[in-house]
Amino acid sequence: MTEAQVVRIKWALEAKREELVADIRKQVSELAIGDSVHDPTDQIQNMTQRDVAVDNLHRLSQTLSSVEHSLGAITDGCYGCCVECGEPIAPRRLEIVPWATHCIGCQAHLEQVVTTSNSRAELPRLSLGDREAA
Ligand SMILES: [Zn+2]
Repeated sequence: MTEAQVVRIKWALEAKREELVADIRKQVSELAIGDSVHDPTDQIQNMTQRDVAVDNLHRLSQTLSSVEHSLGAITDGCYGCCVECGEPIAPRRLEIVPWATHCIGCQAHLEQVVTTSNSRAELPRLSLGDREAA
């Protein structure tokens, strides 16, 4: 990686970090607004909005930690290495997602694990629903 490339990546990461911090602040303020409403219909709508805000916060904070990790990796000289297998992440992938912490293979594996654990988490709720219906 050339000096110019490093500067460009750092700049992109720092811009993304600022954007994420602003988004996180916005989502947190949306969570706070929900407490002041007393009408049940508005409360339900607020709860739905809160769920969305919580999901967004989770996603944003995950991306933020990837951005922080990548900035740290530049300093350590190991930027662009997969945190899972240590193999270099494809430059094309880093061009699109400069804060990528996993190579494409490990990322695919990770997403598969997340999907599997999510569907497993749905099971107890489903069986509980069946019992309530009977
Ligand atoms: Zn990997």
